Amino acid sequence: MKKDILGLNIDDVTMEEALQIALSFTESDSAKTVYTPNAEIAMAALRDSEFLEILNRGDLVIPDGAGVVLASKIINNPLKQKVAGFDLASAMLKNPEFYDKTFFFFGAKPGVAEKAVEKTKAVNPHLKVAGVQHGYFKEEETQEIIDRINLLKPDVLFVGLGAPRQEKWIHAHKDRLKVKLIMGVGGTIDGLAGEVKRAPAFFIDHHLEWLYRLIKQPKRFIRMLNIPAFLWEAVKYRGKTR
Ligand code: UDP
Repeated sequence: MKKDILGLNIDDVTMEEALQIALSFTESDSAKTVYTPNAEIAMAALRDSEFLEILNRGDLVIPDGAGVVLASKIINNPLKQKVAGFDLASAMLKNPEFYDKTFFFFGAKPGVAEKAVEKTKAVNPHLKVAGVQHGYFKEEETQEIIDRINLLKPDVLFVGLGAPRQEKWIHAHKDRLKVKLIMGVGGTIDGLAGEVKRAPAFFIDHHLEWLYRLIKQPKRFIRMLNIPAFLWEAVKYRGKTR
């Protein structure tokens, strides 16, 4: 069930439910989309109506960060839990119900997707990867990339080009892609490759993953101001509806 969080429609699902929905998508006839907004991305969507509409048309839209869940509580429309895109993608790559599915990794710097595949295969030797493609391509190479994906016909296409580029790319091309499920995965390919370390448990348990990211990637500071901005929108909304 979708919940309206400040104009952004987010599925109120647990991790297990999200995984089952993703599995059902891999049996569908047309390409289903999965998006994973965190508070930073959600705020960017409130400022970019095209991006907001694309997210709202997503078939499965999960709350990627503690900030989105907190905002949902502030406005009295609580979401059950945070469902991190990285965790959902990882679960799909390891879950036995996905052993017969094929994956394609599209995004990250040259060589990184190959490393991500190698590391994931070391954990799950059943993993079937149809192909990889780095994310630093020229606009005019797009058709070639689509043709290659369509030749390989993976069940699941992970697109990690960063938000909102990946969502806009997915939306623009999904009807031409011969895949079942397309998911915008942000930095997941980097994470799987070990290029970007996931926050230690302490940070995750205390809802401080954003702080860890800020320490590790200070260049993100400006973008991360979107997180308090989104929470502030929630506070203002609550004030109006009281
Ligand atoms: N990226 C890419 N092509 C580009 C710009 C970025 O493939 O032109 C990749 C980048 O290497 C990284 C991912 O997109 O793997 C973005 O990660 P980030 O954590 O910034 O994702 P976001 O939070 O924006 O979803």
